Amino acid sequence: MSSLIIVLGDQLSKDVAALKEYKDGDLVLMAEVKEKHQAVNHHKKKLAFIYSAMRHFAEDLTAEDVNLSYIRLEDSTEYDGIIDIICSHLDESEFDELVITEPGEYWLADAIEETGVQYNIEIRILPDSRFISTTEEFSDWAEDRKELVMEYWYRLMRKKTGLLMEGKDPIGGKWNFDKQNRKTLKPGEKIKAPRKFRPDETTLSVLQMVEEHFPDAFGDLEPFWYAVTASQARKVLCHFIKYHLQSFGDYQDAMLTDEAFLYHSVISQYINCGLLDPLETCQQAEQAYHRGDAPINAVEGFIRQIIGWREYIRGVYWLYMPDYKDLNELDARRDLPDFYWDGNTQMNCLSQVVSMTRKYAYSHHIQRLMVTGNFANLAGIDVESVCNWYLGVYADAHEWVELPNTLGMALYADGGLVGSKPYISTGNYIKRMSNYCDSCEYDPGKRVGEKACPFTTLYWDYLIRHKDKLKGNQRMSLSYRNLDRFSTTDKKQIQLQAAEFLDTL
Ligand SMILES: Cc1cc2nc3c(=O)[nH]c(=O)nc-3n(C[C@H](O)[C@H](O)[C@H](O)COP(=O)(O)OP(=O)(O)OC[C@H]3O[C@@H](n4cnc5c(N)ncnc54)[C@H](O)[C@@H]3O)c2cc1C
Ligand code: SF4
Repeated sequence: MSSLIIVLGDQLSKDVAALKEYKDGDLVLMAEVKEKHQAVNHHKKKLAFIYSAMRHFAEDLTAEDVNLSYIRLEDSTEYDGIIDIICSHLDESEFDELVITEPGEYWLADAIEETGVQYNIEIRILPDSRFISTTEEFSDWAEDRKELVMEYWYRLMRKKTGLLMEGKDPIGGKWNFDKQNRKTLKPGEKIKAPRKFRPDETTLSVLQMVEEHFPDAFGDLEPFWYAVTASQARKVLCHFIKYHLQSFGDYQDAMLTDEAFLYHSVISQYINCGLLDPLETCQQAEQAYHRGDAPINAVEGFIRQIIGWREYIRGVYWLYMPDYKDLNELDARRDLPDFYWDGNTQMNCLSQVVSMTRKYAYSHHIQRLMVTGNFANLAGIDVESVCNWYLGVYADAHEWVELPNTLGMALYADGGLVGSKPYISTGNYIKRMSNYCDSCEYDPGKRVGEKACPFTTLYWDYLIRHKDKLKGNQRMSLSYRNLDRFSTTDKKQIQLQAAEFLDTL
């Protein structure tokens, strides 16, 4: 009995279920691919990171005498994508079955099943044990619930893992310390940079290949300092726990000019690709709490992001796909402005976030949610274009995690499945949480007039535009009470200013 075992580019862990099935006579297939049916402009650093991590992982497998077929990008251009490559292997040799760990994209899971039918070969799609929950667990939990409140799912995951628990109770007497986590930072704060690595020979050749094959792709390829192996990724985590975790909670939502990383961990790309295990990551953070190296609000906040939000987002994706991808509750159809690519806008906050994204293929959660996401939502930018932008520009972006975060959380295009109200704000929120407004030519406090901040104008215009859909939402009642205080003339001026601004996009 011989199996064709597929290891995808985001499954780079020796513990991944399909690889654990490997035995003599099997063939493991890994391929660097450009999916021809996808129109996503991937960041050069993201491509280099994934291909380099794949090559390093393949080197390890080869050193362990695993029978491996590794297709490099240079040799995969004749194929339409991964399915085409799998088919060519099935054409060339006899296999009794095809084994794969659950892919992170709905279309691929679907296409693998179809390939099985086409070739009349048994397909085994194994659960991805790198997650704390299974997709079935999430759908059982979601069944009969009116609202999928992340906090309740998170508590279940705390009990399941025992993380930060004292018997049945949460350590510190509370499940969630988020209220303490909204401090702002002053410019000039000395913050240690994330752990960086010099590219080795393998990475250098990948950098050259990316430049040759993707000359027009978005973003700066160099300097490239990401971890590309599991041991390097573990060093990144240790560095974060030593230097940043203690302040992670306090400054989680803060933003500062020219500071991309602050106290964030910058590990999502490693967890998502298999270089770091999410549970072990949380256990290490928990140990820092028990050693007295980090306070409860920081450690609880960090662990909540991983066993709460990350698991919840995955559950939502698999529960609602494939229809989820087509949702567009607020009928947002405006073209994506060019400044999402070149950062060329007078709105300093957007220019800052796009320029960091270009440099690092990274921006932190509040930048993604309350700057680029907030603007796209307020301006009614086409949902699919925004999702493709997020899927392309961030090194950690894979459809299962990007889509519910963007379409659901940032754009409210799912009508409230992920967030019970739209995450929108005027420029005043950005002013409170950052120093971006200090060097902007707009005034976040002004909704009309020459200096009016587009976020502030569009916020009120959005409430007027979507009144029919949003006014009945309890969590929007304060915003609508505030809007009701405006005179008819005020509202007309806002609408006029918003229309003029939107015309310039
Ligand atoms: C519009 C939008 C798009 C996003 N797209 C992605 C994406 O494609 N891939 C991705 O991994 N995250 C995505 N996120 C979630 C989050 O922004 C990133 O996980 C985080 O910024 C990564 O940086 P970090 O590793 O420094 O995280 P930290 O702030 O240090 O948080 C620790 C870890 O928690 C996890 N995490 C935190 N928030 C989330 C979340 N909402 N969903 C899933 N995991 C979370 C990540 O694994 C992260 O590494 C998106 C958020 C928004 C608002
Ligand atoms: S004033 Fe408005 S556009 Fe300018 S940085 Fe502040 S929030 Fe952004």
